[in-house]
Amino acid sequence: MRLIHNMTTIAECSAPDYSPANRAIKIAVIGAGGVGKTALVVRFLTRRFIGDYERNAGNLYSREVQVDGEQVSLQVQDTPGVEMSDNDAVLPDHVSCSLQWADAVVLVYSVTDRRSFDLVPHLHQRVARCSSTSSSGPPVVLLANKADLLHLRRVDPQQGPMLAGTLGCAFYEVSASEGYSQVHGAFHRLCCQLAKQRPPSPPASQPVAEKRRPKSPNMQDLKRRFKQALSAKVRTVTSV
Ligand code: GDP
Ligand code: MG
Repeated sequence: MRLIHNMTTIAECSAPDYSPANRAIKIAVIGAGGVGKTALVVRFLTRRFIGDYERNAGNLYSREVQVDGEQVSLQVQDTPGVEMSDNDAVLPDHVSCSLQWADAVVLVYSVTDRRSFDLVPHLHQRVARCSSTSSSGPPVVLLANKADLLHLRRVDPQQGPMLAGTLGCAFYEVSASEGYSQVHGAFHRLCCQLAKQRPPSPPASQPVAEKRRPKSPNMQDLKRRFKQALSAKVRTVTSV
């Protein structure tokens, strides 16, 4: 795993680039603070659970992964927590920027934190609004984290799948602290979905046609005039 840089250095909110030269899949992980976003990203990328992280670090991680037998460069953007205010989600600039950048979103809440669950529909709306991928928004996976903390549960097990059904996204209940396979499954599903949406790479035997730069009209005009002048000179010489 390679830590590219801190979130603060993501300056451009560029539209996704599906050109074969840029096969990066970009996933943003968003949700309320303390729900386990960083724990999930680290679990997915390293298979390990690390208890404590720098708060709201919002790092960008990159690694090469195999998706349907094809090597793809994956970038995962961890983000600072989103809060609710005046019955709407307040997105820090970093989060808005990440949503514009991302090809897909992992939306996280904690089963121990009712407010983080109530935030989900608001966040989902913002995902569709912020995204530059399509009018319907990017693919989203809803993750209910901290499933291991049964005694602290504040969101019923059936509420997550119901909400995901309403929002039209996939749902996984996971525990970053206890399991790898479900966390991996959720991220992997998104990668597969995105890989399918991409145009296929050109076959190796057929070299990609080199894009010719259009000639500038001025240059073409100059060449024409140069040729005319030359042929006039030749005519002059031969007529002598
Ligand atoms: P973030 O603010 O959303 O990035 O949350 P963190 O990843 O920093 O996690 C917040 C706290 O919850 C940390 O103390 C983690 O160790 C803990 N945590 C994260 N995921 C789990 C989980 O699945 N189970 C339990 N028991 N604790 C978790
Ligand atoms: Mg974090």
